Amino acid sequence: MKKECSINRDLLPLYLEGQVSTETANYIRDHLDTCDECRAELETLSAPSKIDYIAAEEVDFGDSDAVALKIIKHNRRRKIVLNIIKLLILLLIILGIYDFAKPTTISYGTSEIYSKQDMDDAIDLIKERIYNIEGIVSDTKSKIYSISYTNDDVCQQELNEHKGQAIAKYGVPYSECIVFKTEMRPPLFGDKHHVLNSYLKYSWGWTLGRIDDGDWEVITFGGGYTF
Ligand SMILES: [Zn+2]
Repeated sequence: MKKECSINRDLLPLYLEGQVSTETANYIRDHLDTCDECRAELETLSAPSKIDYIAAEEVDFGDSDAVALKIIKHNRRRKIVLNIIKLLILLLIILGIYDFAKPTTISYGTSEIYSKQDMDDAIDLIKERIYNIEGIVSDTKSKIYSISYTNDDVCQQELNEHKGQAIAKYGVPYSECIVFKTEMRPPLFGDKHHVLNSYLKYSWGWTLGRIDDGDWEVITFGGGYTF
């Protein structure tokens, strides 16, 4: 083998990968123009492998330079696409971890009626109800972003609206109502009943009632509240 050919053969794989300088590429191309054997070698090297079958379909094997260029371009495009996909996956993972790790914000607002203990009892019940929305994958849990006390006026309005609801059950009306707003996301991969979308944040209002100093119970909850 001629010395030039030997050098050329060593460089061909790099040339195909597009990893040589313009000068070297020119040198290789000049040599390929004059050397049938090296051109044959290039075609062998750039013959369709399993990985490159898409490139093989796209290229015309009539012209070695064109083959090499098309494969280089194809590989470059594939690398870019793969990198973008990798980046997106990474971003989703980071966002997911961030979302998952954020603690629930609880705001008690101000109240003349309820103590922090009254509110905490109600909050515990709301949390329990939200966490009890079962996911399709059993160990996934709802995510609660925030729980906020509304205000005393809203509680009073809700009491007026709902106090009679206890009469059928207990013979007496609710004596107190407490109202919270929550931001939450259902368990990942959907809830078992296919009612909620895991990828949406839900803003729900919660109205709880109790009789005298009994335990809070949930009277009503859901979106579309006006307070
Ligand atoms: Zn040669």
